Amino acid sequence: MDMKKHLAFLLFSLNLLPVLAQVQLDPAMQDYLPANTSYNDQIPLPEDIIGFVPGKWHVSHDKLIEYMKALSVASDRIQIENRGKTYEDRGLYLLTISSPSNLRNLEEIRTNHLKNTTSDQIDNSTAPIVVYQGFSIHGNEPSGSNAALILAYHLAAAEGPEIESLLNNTVILLDPSLNPDGLQRFAGWVNQHKSDLVNPDNYDREYDEVWPGGRTNHYWFDMNRDWLPAQLPESQARIATFHKWLPNILTDHHEMGTNATFFFQPGIPSRTHPLTPKMNQELTRRIGEYHARAFDKIGSLYYTEESYDDFYYGKGSTFPDINGSVGILFEQASSRGHAQESENGILTFPFTIKNQFTAALSTLEAAQGMRAELLNYQKDFYTNARKEAGKDAYIFGDATDANRTKALADILSRHQIKLKPVNQDFTKNGKLFKKGYAFMVPKNQKNSRLLQAMFEKRTEFQDSLFYDISAWTLPLAFDMDFEEQGSLDLAGSMSDMEESPRVEKSDFAYLLRYNDYYAPAALYQILSEGIRAKVAMQPFGLSDRNYDYGTILIPVMNQEKNAEELEVFLKNLSKRFNINFEAAPTGLTSGIDLGSRQFRALELPKIAVLIGEGINPYDAGEIWHLMDQRYQIPITKIDLQDINRKDLNKYTTIVVPATAAQKMR
Ligand SMILES: [Zn+2]
Repeated sequence: MDMKKHLAFLLFSLNLLPVLAQVQLDPAMQDYLPANTSYNDQIPLPEDIIGFVPGKWHVSHDKLIEYMKALSVASDRIQIENRGKTYEDRGLYLLTISSPSNLRNLEEIRTNHLKNTTSDQIDNSTAPIVVYQGFSIHGNEPSGSNAALILAYHLAAAEGPEIESLLNNTVILLDPSLNPDGLQRFAGWVNQHKSDLVNPDNYDREYDEVWPGGRTNHYWFDMNRDWLPAQLPESQARIATFHKWLPNILTDHHEMGTNATFFFQPGIPSRTHPLTPKMNQELTRRIGEYHARAFDKIGSLYYTEESYDDFYYGKGSTFPDINGSVGILFEQASSRGHAQESENGILTFPFTIKNQFTAALSTLEAAQGMRAELLNYQKDFYTNARKEAGKDAYIFGDATDANRTKALADILSRHQIKLKPVNQDFTKNGKLFKKGYAFMVPKNQKNSRLLQAMFEKRTEFQDSLFYDISAWTLPLAFDMDFEEQGSLDLAGSMSDMEESPRVEKSDFAYLLRYNDYYAPAALYQILSEGIRAKVAMQPFGLSDRNYDYGTILIPVMNQEKNAEELEVFLKNLSKRFNINFEAAPTGLTSGIDLGSRQFRALELPKIAVLIGEGINPYDAGEIWHLMDQRYQIPITKIDLQDINRKDLNKYTTIVVPATAAQKMR
C-alpha cells in the first residue's frame, strides 16, 4: 500500500473523511503537482478539456478559457466572470477562487476588506487575505498562462486540511491571461512549427517568431507599461479588478532569456521608488523566503536582488507598491517554444511551467503565513497616507484642448481618484485655467500617494541606471499646464463641464480650430464626405476672436450638401468627437480674409504606414492605433520588405515609424 492509499484508509477508518476516488494522473501531470496530495475525481483535468497534458503543446487562449469555464461549472470553489474583451474580441476572464462559504459571502468579504483602507480601527485577526495572480502579460512568455491551468486545477481539485485552510483564509483573483491576443498569436506560431521529435536546436524556426511577435497586444503595445496610463481594454479590466479588491499581494509572471534561471523580487535595492515604503521591500524579501524554500525543494535554480528594478509604477509588479499592496515580479528563463538548448542544459517548456506553478503556490503559502501582517501593512499604508496628505490641490488643463484635458481626467477616474472641474476662468503663474477645460484634484483623498506618484516632478535619483522608464509626470507627458493650488475655492461640480459641444449655425462659413486632440478625426470625416475645406496658413481675427495657424475653414456655399444638411452633418460630428464649430458670419477679417490664397484647399489623405522587420513595432503599433481607433482614419500597412513591389504613388502620405536596431524580444 502506498502512502496515499494508506492515509486514505486511515482517515476512512477514523471516519474523518468520506473515501475519495483516486484520480489516475498522467505521469507528466503528476510531475507538476505536489506529492502526497489527493485530488477530487469530479473535477476535470486540463487534458480532459484541452486534449493534452499542459506543456505538450502551448495552450491557445480559446482552450485556456474553455478549461477555466469547465472548472467553474464543476467546482464550488471557483467563480468566473468576463470583464470585457480585447481588440480581437477575446474575453477578459477572471476566476475568483476561495472556500465555498467565502464565495457565498464574497461581497461582504470584499466590503470588509476595503474598510482596511479607510479606517485604522479594523480588526484583521480573522479576515481573509486577497491575492491577485496575473499571468503572461507578454504573450510570448507563455509559461505563466500554461501554469495557470495547473494552478486552477490544483485549487479546484486538491483535497485535505491544507487546501481547505488555504481557501478559508484567502480570496484568490486568478487572471489566467493578461494578454489574450498575444498569447493566441504566440501559441499559433510555436505549435505550427513543433516537430513530433521535439528539437531543442535554437536555429529551428519554432524559436524565431516573425515580426511583431506575441509579446504585445493587437496594436503592438507593451501592456506591462500601461498599469498607470491604463489606455488599453486589457489594462482597464485589470485596473478595475485591482481597485475593486485592493489585493494584498499581486504577482506578475514573466519570462526572460533562455540562459537565465528564475528570478523573484526584491529587485536591485537602490532602484526602488522612494515613495514605496521600506516595509514593502522587507515584506517582499520575506515572501521571497517562501519562494526560495519551494525552489530548493524541487532543485530549481533562482536568483533575487539583481537585474530588475521596482521603480516605474506603470508596471504590474510596481503598481501595487504605491497602493498599499506588495507587487512581485517573477521571471522564468524562456524555452520560447517546446525545448531549447541552454547553459543549464536542455530547457523544456514543462520545466518552465513547473517553476511558475511552484512560485504561484509558494505565493499562496506566503499569503497564508503572513496574512495578518500583510493586512495590517495595508491598513497602516492608508492610515499614514491620510495623515500626510496635503490640504491643497493640483490644477491641470489646456484652455484650447478639451479632449486632451479629458483624457488625463479619465486616467485619474480609472484609478478612483476624485477630481472636480473648476467653476470659473482664472490665471496662475501666467497659465490660464478655463472653465470647461480644467480640473482640480484635491490631495486629501484615499489614493493620495498614487496621485503624488502621477503628478510629482522627480529630478533626483539614488541610482543612475534603470531597467527602463524613470520619469512619467503625467501632466508633462500630456504637455498640459498644471499648478499646485492652496485652496479648493474654485472647485465646481460636474455640471461645470457639461457644456455640450456647439455648432454655431452659419450661412457663410464654419471654422474648426485645430488645437483639439480630435480635430484631425473630424477633418477626415469632413473630407471623406466630399465637403470642401481649407486650412489657414496664417493667424487671423474675426469679431472678437483670434484664430491660429491651421484653423480649418468650411464654406457653406457650393457644397454638395445644402446649408441645412451641412449644419446637421457638423452637429453629428461635433457630438461624435466632442468638438466645436464656430460661425464666420463674414469673410472680412483682421489678417487673411476667408477668400485669401492663404487659405489652402485640402485633399483627402490616403495614408500608408511602413511596418515589418526593421521597424520598431511599438512605434508602428502606436501610429496604427491612433489612426484606427482614435482618429478613425484608414491606413494601409505595407511591409518594408515589399516596398519596391508596390506603387507608392497611390498614397498622399507615407508614415515611416522609428526603426528597430535589433529584433524585438
Ligand atoms: Zn515580460
